[in-house]
Order: sequence, then C-alpha cells, then structure tokens
Amino acid sequence: MTRPFNFSAGPAVLPDTVLAQAASEMLDWHGSGMSVMEMSHRGKHFTQICDEAEADLRELMKVPADYAVLFMQGGGLAENAIVPMNLIATKPSQEADFLITGSWSSKSFKEAQRYGDIKVAATSADAARIGDRDQAAFTYVPDASTWKVRPDASYLHLCSNETIDGVEFLDWPDLAALGAPDVPLVVDASSHILSRPIDINRVGVLFGGAQKNIGPAGLTIVIARRDLLGKALPVCPSAFDYSIVDKNDSRYNTPPTYSIYIAGLVFKWLKAQGGVEGIEAANRAKADLLYGYLDASAFYRNAVHPAVRSRMNVPFYLNNDALNADFLKGADEAGLLQLKGHKSVGGMRASIYNAMPLAGVQALVDYLKHFEQRHG
Ligand SMILES: *Cc1c(COP(=O)(O)O)cnc(C)c1O
Repeated sequence: MTRPFNFSAGPAVLPDTVLAQAASEMLDWHGSGMSVMEMSHRGKHFTQICDEAEADLRELMKVPADYAVLFMQGGGLAENAIVPMNLIATKPSQEADFLITGSWSSKSFKEAQRYGDIKVAATSADAARIGDRDQAAFTYVPDASTWKVRPDASYLHLCSNETIDGVEFLDWPDLAALGAPDVPLVVDASSHILSRPIDINRVGVLFGGAQKNIGPAGLTIVIARRDLLGKALPVCPSAFDYSIVDKNDSRYNTPPTYSIYIAGLVFKWLKAQGGVEGIEAANRAKADLLYGYLDASAFYRNAVHPAVRSRMNVPFYLNNDALNADFLKGADEAGLLQLKGHKSVGGMRASIYNAMPLAGVQALVDYLKHFEQRHG
C-alpha cells in the first residue's frame, strides 16, 4: 500500500515501517499475549520498552549522565507552566528572560508571567507584515548583541524551532558573551527535536511534545540537567515535579505507555537512518530543494531570513491569495495532504519532518511548478 504524502505540522507523519511493525504487534507484543496498551506500566515487559526507549534517546542525542530524561504528559503548552514552576526558584531573584521569535515563544512568555518576574530579552515581533494578515510576522532572530539577559535570571527561554513562523535556531547563543554565563538555557524543541545534532551540554532544560517529530501525541520529552532539579515551587503538582518524575524513572504516575512504545520504535528507525547525523543530511537536502524552488519563483514567497529558515516547517504564500482554495484542493487530489498554513498566519505550510521522504518534497515541488504554470 502506498500512502499520500502528509505535510501536517502535527500530529504528523510517521515512518511506514514503524506503523506496520506496531500493527503487527498490536494484539501480542513479543509473545507476551498482550497489546502494549494492556500492560502494567510497572511490569517487566513495559519496563523493558521504556528503558530501551530512554537508552536509545540518550544515545541518539548524546545525553550525558548528569541529565535526566523524562517521559511526561501535558505537551508543550503544559511545559510553559511546568518549566517555571520547576526552575524559577533555582535562584533567589525568581526572574526569567524570554526570546520572542514567533507564536510559540510568545505563548510561553505569557504563561510564565504567573510564576515570577518575567521579561523579554529580545523580540522580532516588529517584522514586516506578510500576506494580507493584520499581524506582525516573525521573520528573523534579533542579533544576539541586542539581547538583554539579566545575569541573575533563573533561565533564558527560547523556542529553537518556531513551528508556525518557520524560524529555526541553528546554533545556541553564547550567554557568556552576553555577560550571563550562569544563566541556563531553556529550549522548546518540540518541532525539530532529533532532526539534527545539538549540543545538550549547553542547555539546562530541553522539552518537546512527541507529536511533531517523534510519535503519537500524549508524550512529552523533557531533558533536564539534574543540578537544576529539586527546587519546584510548592504549587507545582507532584506529577509535574521533575525531581519526583526523575526519581521514579518516569513512572511516578502512569505515563503515556503506548506513545512511549511508538517513540521507541521511531528511535530504532532513526538509528537505522544513521542517527541524527544521517537524518540531518536528508533534512538539509529536502529543505534546500523546497526553498530553492520557492526563491526562484515569482509566484510563491517565503519571508523568513535565509539564515534562520526552518528545515522542518516551511511556511509559504501564493502572491495571489485568491488562488489558495484551488491550490489546496489540487494538492489534495495530487496526494499532498495538510498543506494549509496555521490559521493565525494564513497561506501554506509544508512540514517536512524526519519521516517525510525526499520523494515527498520532490512531489510537492512538482505540484508547485505545475500549479504555477497553470495560473502564473
Ligand atoms: C506544537 C508545539 C507546542 C504545543 O504543543 P502541545 O502538545 O499542543 O501543547 C509548543 N511548542 C512548539 C514549538 C510546538 O511546535
């Protein structure tokens, strides 16, 4: 069976082989006589599944032993509250600074206000308007020399891949150069986790919902430097206290067991693709192909600064908005699904996560060309 190409921003495409394996193990996992969904989260079968998933994730991301890897629930939005509840009191100032580079970091900033003294370190909300939408577009990352990071802040938050705006950090900022060497980075990596190698040693806490680049919704990955744990605010629910989740090997309460199982299969698939180094090469080729076509065309446009364009989420606009509905209808008929842009920014968006093959991006470029020839 061949399936259409699925460009959803999330929940998003998964590798065919992973879904086929899950289907074949649905009724009886490895001779246990049980579906993974039917197993105790403390039994030996699920313990094996969970431990293997954690070990594979640690290997893929080269996570050092002094970092906890936590499998939690609540998604990226819940982390917007869970992070400050866990980290804001790691320093007496109870301050945190935020880089605002798109819709998701804006949301994180807003939510964090309930928990401490929260300020904007820098923002790109003033970017030029695009499309016919009556709102600012985030199209760049402010130059690091302009960031205001308080040296006593408990952390600096950034969203390393803005899923809606298509802005990606390709490197971590040098906080020592900003006079804030002791401020840990908090990174929302929901939509590009495992898409390329990153240096986790320079991060305090990294989190991501699984449903973009890892597996089914319901699972949230948190990677946290252990010396930052144990200072959660008294209002923090125990099930969301990182140190409690860590001490209980992510099984303080019932974790999203089936999502962890699928994530584990995806980790094995990723290792077979050459790990994050191998998938990065594939992701780069896909992104180059798509941006290359958009840039050469006078019919479509992407307004993000080339140095910070996301390799995972490619928002683009037709110069003639009146053709949007025709474009999407034709795309569906051509087997190119879920290309509609986020409702807050309009236009189109092609999410080309790890599981999207180059052939899918090539099919999209062929369609873009075809549509342009008919309507240009
Ligand atoms: C999707 C997304 C979220 C929100 O995730 P939920 O699981 O819906 O809470 C947060 N941050 C980023 C960068 C995302 O892409």
